[in-house]
Amino acid sequence: MDQITIDDLRAQPIPPQGHFINGRTCASESGATLDVISPINGQVLTQIAAGTPADMNAAVAGARAAFEDGRWAKLAPSARKKVLLKLADLIEARALEIAVLGVRDNGTEINMALKAEAMSAAATFRFYGECIDKVYGEIAPTAKDVLGLVHHAPVGVVGAIVPWNFPLMIGAWKIAPALAAGNSLVLKPAESASLSLLKIAELASEAGVPDGVFNVVTGKGSVVGETLALSMEVDILVFTGSGATGRRLLEYSARSNMKRCYLELGGKSPNIVFNDTADLGHAAKVSAAGIFRNSGQVCVAGSRLLVQEDIHDEFVAELCRHAEAYRVGDPLDLSSQIGAVHSLPELEANLQFVQTAHDQGAEQRCGGHRILQDTGGYYMSPTVMAGVKETDNLFQNEVFGPVLAVTPFKDEAEALRLANGTVYGLAAGVWTSNLSRAHRMVDGIRSGVVHVNTYGGADLTVPLGGVRQSGNGHDKSLHALKKYFDLKTAWIQL
Ligand code: ADP
Repeated sequence: MDQITIDDLRAQPIPPQGHFINGRTCASESGATLDVISPINGQVLTQIAAGTPADMNAAVAGARAAFEDGRWAKLAPSARKKVLLKLADLIEARALEIAVLGVRDNGTEINMALKAEAMSAAATFRFYGECIDKVYGEIAPTAKDVLGLVHHAPVGVVGAIVPWNFPLMIGAWKIAPALAAGNSLVLKPAESASLSLLKIAELASEAGVPDGVFNVVTGKGSVVGETLALSMEVDILVFTGSGATGRRLLEYSARSNMKRCYLELGGKSPNIVFNDTADLGHAAKVSAAGIFRNSGQVCVAGSRLLVQEDIHDEFVAELCRHAEAYRVGDPLDLSSQIGAVHSLPELEANLQFVQTAHDQGAEQRCGGHRILQDTGGYYMSPTVMAGVKETDNLFQNEVFGPVLAVTPFKDEAEALRLANGTVYGLAAGVWTSNLSRAHRMVDGIRSGVVHVNTYGGADLTVPLGGVRQSGNGHDKSLHALKKYFDLKTAWIQL
């Protein structure tokens, strides 16, 4: 049989999608649907179920029942591992199909989506499947007449709310450790990027995840997301998205059962280039990729470039050369290096940021426009705005689009002050050939990760999480597992 191609897959019609509740696909109880618009061409791609509070409550009840009867939670960890490894294999075997499906509703360039979505999700299920039968409890160093055992108990029902930029990668960062630890889960994908996650739920069922353990309810955040977050039956909430929604989730938690909320929020991450950088050409190339890939729709994007004064003009010019050389276009074309902006409102918000930056005195060095409008899709040229001041909107606020703010600095002290000069603390980059300086910057920058002489690299072995208003808690690595367990002590008098 001939291998299926990206063009075959993109031509396949996508039938209207239902929720995935208690192991089966079902429509919303109201029958209502939401159109899914493809950012590739602005056309309606399909419909998803517009979930209601009743739909969400049914999913949470199913998850609770599945947890309480122990059909998953009480399996041996090695049995859960087997299922998660099978799920990883199923995802890998269908990686192209899943990646294309995801690109059709979210617009990420396919060469990135293959690695960062489908293959990354498979690796994540494998990582947490592999680790779960290696997690030990503790025997506490008590007095001799007592036995103190510290158990890792699954928390119960996990509510997960995820965004549209990397739905599968970020979704898997939450689904995999939650399931590995023995919990049940209700997932609420972004309304504009639900398709690939619905597919994962089906594959999970095929791999042997019992009915009710992993549910997906689609629809609006303000309806089903809110119902999930307010539920008295949800034990913890794990979230990636905007600060505004994160703040609401904390309120919902306070108004309901005070469930723990783990929030991965936005960033305005500084990428700092010192004049002693060994290879400025390489730094410019990597820095451009660090803001412009996936049209800047990356939470850790290096969106504030801080450059030492004496190399500023040369460096910015080199970075603009890379920005202008990027092939922006159809995300399903393998040669596109940057795909589509996710939606028309996002594109309009990006352009508004550029306009405000102009109004506040910044200088546009490249990009700044909607492009390829004849396709009907949402594309924007990589944009570099120089002369951005600390007080400017573009310095302080997350764009979540292909817009880079450039600010010069004099010395290390000023670089550090500017780096920490926003409410965020997600990621950072430092370019220097001075090892002591690199360590001082790592120490001084308030963020979850500091890249040194690169930008944006990471794998599953390291945690990802923010400080300050970029959130709390971590995805990835063994640290992520902690969220999905409660510590339970048995204090046994001998
Ligand atoms: P973004 O700006 O990246 O779209 P959002 O925070 O709006 O970030 O969306 C992230 C996720 O949060 C999506 O799944 C969205 O539907 C959901 N969401 C939005 N508003 C709410 C809300 N009031 N309650 C719960 N979830 C919400």
